[in-house]
Amino acid sequence: MLDIRIEKTQNPKPLPTEDNPLTFGTIFTDHMFIMNYETGKGWFDPRIVPYQPLQLEPSSMVFHYGQEMFEGLKAYKTEDNRTLLFRPNKNIERANNTNKRICIPQIPEEDFLQAIKAVVKMDEAWIPTKPGTSLYIRPFIIATDPFLGVRPSDTYMFIIILSPVGAYYKEGLNPVKIWIEDEYVRAVKGGLGEAKTGANYCASLASQVKAHDAGYSQVLWLDGVERKYIEEVGAMNIFFKINGTVVTPMLNGSILPGVTRDSVINLCKHWGIPVEERRISVDELYDAAKSGALEEVFGTGTAAVISPVGELRFENHMLKIGDGGIGELSQKLYDTVTGIQLGKLKDELGWVVEV
Ligand SMILES: *Cc1c(COP(=O)(O)O)cnc(C)c1O
Repeated sequence: MLDIRIEKTQNPKPLPTEDNPLTFGTIFTDHMFIMNYETGKGWFDPRIVPYQPLQLEPSSMVFHYGQEMFEGLKAYKTEDNRTLLFRPNKNIERANNTNKRICIPQIPEEDFLQAIKAVVKMDEAWIPTKPGTSLYIRPFIIATDPFLGVRPSDTYMFIIILSPVGAYYKEGLNPVKIWIEDEYVRAVKGGLGEAKTGANYCASLASQVKAHDAGYSQVLWLDGVERKYIEEVGAMNIFFKINGTVVTPMLNGSILPGVTRDSVINLCKHWGIPVEERRISVDELYDAAKSGALEEVFGTGTAAVISPVGELRFENHMLKIGDGGIGELSQKLYDTVTGIQLGKLKDELGWVVEV
C-alpha cells in the first residue's frame, strides 16, 4: 500500500463546459500523481499535487536517450454515478513489460492501480458524461539522472496525468483513410515494437506527415524485414473480416499488444465468430478485396476504441472497403465495448473495475 500524500490545488480550473465539444488530449485536470525512484531506495514519496510544470535538469537522461515509457487507459462515469476503469491490470502488466525492455524499474501492480484510482478519484468531477467522452489516463515514467552518458538511469519519476477527452479522430466513428507505408518501418522483432515507449512514435512521425499531406489520417505499418506482412496502425491494432472470419496480425515481437485488441478477440470468440491471429500479407488483402471476400477493416485502441477503415492505399493502389459506411461487426464491437465500459451492458467477461 502506498501512503499517498495529498496537496490540493488552491486554484481549481473551470471544468470544460458541455457546449465546447471535447477534443483529444488538450485539457488537463487539476491534479497529477507523482512518485520518485532512486536505486537502492526504490519508489518513494507518492503524492498527488496540483497539475503543474516539472522542473528538470536539462541534462536529464530522458531528453537525450529517450528512456521513457507510457500507458493509456480511460475512466468512465456510469448513469448511476459510479466511476469505472476498463481492464486496468492489462495496462499495468504491459507497463511492467515495457519497463523490463527499457531497463526501468518495475512498479508493484497493486501500487500502480492504487495510484491510478487515487488520482482519478481526486479529479472525478472532470469525467465527462456525454456520449463518446471519457477521462483519458496517461501514466508515464521518465529517466531523470543529470548525466550525458548511455546507461540506464538511477533515478526516475512516475507521473499520472488526466485529460477529459472526446473522439480521437475528428471523423468520430466514421471510416478513416489509411496509408500503407512502403518506405519507412516502425519496428523490427527484437526492437521496441512491443514496448509502449515514445521512441516508436518518434520513428513514425515522418510517415505520418507524408500520409497526412496526401489526405490520409493514419499509417499502416508493414513488417520491417520483408515489407510484405501487415503489422499495425499508428496507435491502433488492425483487424480484417474476410469471408466471415476475423483476422488480425499475430503478436510477433514488433507489434504492440493492445488491450482493445485482446478484448475484441475475446468478444468475437465469445460470440462464436472465428478469429485467426496470423501473418497476413498486403497481397492477400488485395486479393480478398478483389474477390469481394474483404468485408470489413477496423482499428482497435483505447483512444478511438473501434475505428472503421474506409480506404487503404498502397503505392498507387487505392482500396475502398465496403460501402464507405461502418461495418456491422465494427458497429457491434464498438457498441459492446463502450457499453461495458460505461456500465450499460452486463460485464460478462469481468473487465470493469470500480474506482
Ligand atoms: C497503445 C497502442 C495501441 C493500442 O493499445 P490499446 O491497449 O488497445 O490502447 C496500438 N498500437 C500502438 C503502437 C500503441 O502504442
